[in-house]
Amino acid sequence: MRDEIKEILISEEEIQEKCRELGKQITEEYDGKFPLVVGVLKGAMPFMGDLTKRIDTHLEMDFMDVSSYGAGMVSSGEVKIVKDLDTSVEGRDVLILEDIIDSGLTLSYLVKLFHYRKAKSVKVVTLLDKPDGRKVDLVPDLAGFIVPDAFVVGYGLDFAERYRNLPYIGILKPEIYES
Ligand code: 5GP
Ligand code: MG
Ligand code: MG
Repeated sequence: MRDEIKEILISEEEIQEKCRELGKQITEEYDGKFPLVVGVLKGAMPFMGDLTKRIDTHLEMDFMDVSSYGAGMVSSGEVKIVKDLDTSVEGRDVLILEDIIDSGLTLSYLVKLFHYRKAKSVKVVTLLDKPDGRKVDLVPDLAGFIVPDAFVVGYGLDFAERYRNLPYIGILKPEIYES
């Protein structure tokens, strides 16, 4: 699989170090609280696993699957709930974990939805942020790394459902998505 990757943007070690850093900040922020940590499937799965191990407060985990991208690389702008939460967010401190924010459409939809459902607070943590891709005004409360406006894969991020299991974030060789 490695020979399909043009460049490693963020190494496994850098990701793990960032999870420790973010975990510390989240621990301070939610000390004495019981946040509901919502992972956005499927991309946020590895990040959720590594980050929550570094958060030293009680917390509850739930998952939501929304899709706006399908199998391709261009946002349709449409957000569809594929799997909803099992838990009520009413009165809860909700912390949404995302793999990457590009247009911001997915996250702004979720933030609005959770406010509408009467969450006490809604915050967003993303591992990667692509500010150049923004179509709506959305600023994450915490972001791990700023990435350029390129299509990245690995550590949860897919191309046609592949590469999610890479331990690092990389850029694909163009011949992979052109073929
Ligand atoms: P947004 O709604 O912010 O445009 O897009 C969010 C979702 O699009 C992400 O959670 C991710 O699934 C997908 N996405 C955006 N940029 C990339 C990228 O560079 N690589 C991959 N693999 N997925 C991306
Ligand atoms: Mg995602
Ligand atoms: Mg995808």
